[in-house]
Amino acid sequence: MKASISYIEQKFQEFNHLCFEGKLPPIPIRLSNARNALGSFRCKRTRDLLGRVHYSDPCLSISTRYDIDETLLEDTLLHEMIHYYIMINGLKDSSAHGPVFRSMMDEINTRYGRHITISHRRTASEVASDRLRKPHVLCVARLSSGAMALVVCARSRVFDIYDELPRRYLIKESHWYWSKDPYFNRFPNSITAKLYRVEAAELAEHLKGAIELECDGRTMRPKR
Ligand SMILES: [Zn+2]
Repeated sequence: MKASISYIEQKFQEFNHLCFEGKLPPIPIRLSNARNALGSFRCKRTRDLLGRVHYSDPCLSISTRYDIDETLLEDTLLHEMIHYYIMINGLKDSSAHGPVFRSMMDEINTRYGRHITISHRRTASEVASDRLRKPHVLCVARLSSGAMALVVCARSRVFDIYDELPRRYLIKESHWYWSKDPYFNRFPNSITAKLYRVEAAELAEHLKGAIELECDGRTMRPKR
């Protein structure tokens, strides 16, 4: 999904009460098209005559560049909210993601089953691409051995793979699907009919939102 301002504002309130004891004041929220960060938190930092640091004008932004799943969006917001909490409480940390940040992150992750990360070692586009909702055409096959396997097809090779599969494998049963489930991102976008073994229960879980297709070898359309 892609965030909207109203969605983020609503989540902000929800998480504020759930994880921050409602202590975070409302904050301006912006949408961005950032490539390198799914979210960011900014504020002005000024020093007074005595050298004390003051923070002001906080702003939280969320990138809508990538179509990501909801939990990643929520975890991204929570990450930025931790920065906000640290700022408004004037907590000292050794770096942006120092021990104070990490201990808050770990606590929220443990208490609420979240998966907030410090993603500085990976770029946002890498994080997002794992969870990106992009369309896949795939064939799911039950082999004669009983094992389940699948191939995610490159768009230009769907019909070649359709023809080739029964020649390469002993297939008991096969079904074609269109799915945007990010689970399928992990399989190569195949140009040949190479099946990958999958665990049946796991597969069934990720086929829930899929659209079954019917194929006659020349066209493919949603099954009626
Ligand atoms: Zn951060």
